[in-house]
Amino acid sequence: MLPIGLIGGMSWESTVPYYRAINEGIRARLGGLHSARLILWSVDFHDIEMLQREGRWDEAGRELASAASALERAGAGLIVLATNTMHKVAPAIEAAVTVPLLHIADPTAGAILRAGLRTVGLLGTRFTMEEDFYAGRLRERHGLDVLVPGEDDRADVHRVIYEELCLGRVLDASRERYRVVIERLAERGAEGVILGCTEIAMLLEGHPMALPTFDTTRLHADAAVELALGRHVLPDLP
Ligand code: GLU
Repeated sequence: MLPIGLIGGMSWESTVPYYRAINEGIRARLGGLHSARLILWSVDFHDIEMLQREGRWDEAGRELASAASALERAGAGLIVLATNTMHKVAPAIEAAVTVPLLHIADPTAGAILRAGLRTVGLLGTRFTMEEDFYAGRLRERHGLDVLVPGEDDRADVHRVIYEELCLGRVLDASRERYRVVIERLAERGAEGVILGCTEIAMLLEGHPMALPTFDTTRLHADAAVELALGRHVLPDLP
């Protein structure tokens, strides 16, 4: 079993479910008292959020690249970056290590394709919804059609992530707001919706929505388990 190098803390509220999901995955596959070999590097999200807000992505990339490099030196055989948004700096991280970075969009796309879907809605931070580093990968590498919510809906989805979920606040009113956003995506032709922020499952888990949901935290953690155990995890390209 390869040791997993997990870069977390973005926010730590979603790193906890990652740690649990990875260990549950190893136990499910190997049984008994098996658990994950894992090294966690957890950042101070205050600093990362400030760099995001101020558009200082190069500095954020350098910090995460140095975390990945430290994890590799500590023995990690793969790197798992426990946030969708910070995959914006995936190239900087990949350049700093010789072990693979398991990109969160790839196992997500694999699950969508296995479900037989092609057109999906994308919820996440405004960086994830509005820039091309995420939807572009889904389109170009995996042949998916990606819809993002309209402007007001994007603003609310983003605000709930930073002002509530990253602080551990799970509010019924915000779940109902997300419900409306997902219904609108369904009306526009989405067949499923990507929970493209690692905290969103905290809000929606156990609450059926108008569309099937794809939880990036769970899918990424499961793929990390498969890769750590030396199994093929990436979907074939269309
Ligand atoms: N965890 C979130 C994500 O998956 C948002 C926090 C961050 O900006 O990293 O995008």
